[in-house]
Amino acid sequence: MKILIIDDSNSIAMMVGQFIKELGHDSYHATDGRDAIDMIAQEDNFDLILLDWNMPEMDGLEFLKYNQENSLTKTPIMMMTTENKPEKIMKALEFGAVEYIMKPFSKDVLESKISTLKSMAA
Ligand SMILES: [Mg+2]
Repeated sequence: MKILIIDDSNSIAMMVGQFIKELGHDSYHATDGRDAIDMIAQEDNFDLILLDWNMPEMDGLEFLKYNQENSLTKTPIMMMTTENKPEKIMKALEFGAVEYIMKPFSKDVLESKISTLKSMAA
């Protein structure tokens, strides 16, 4: 799978990218929502998007809204968040995220989330 990480933290993007590589997938990195829009507009060929919530320029929720309003991509989007407030998670799901994962997470948790998404898509 081609997995796009959208996160302003280079250290988190590197760590998650390493997990993705170890799980046998290819990882790509966008530093915020704007950067991600540019990448996707250039080539909409990702299989999964991992989206951070808090970012400068365009944050995760703004990216979800932009995606809904502009039909940018149909790629499944998983929110990566330190927020565990149900109303915030509901908001992300309402704006088109299909799953969320609590930061920090292990490679095993990421693997199981990815396989859940695969079985949903099947
Ligand atoms: Mg962040």
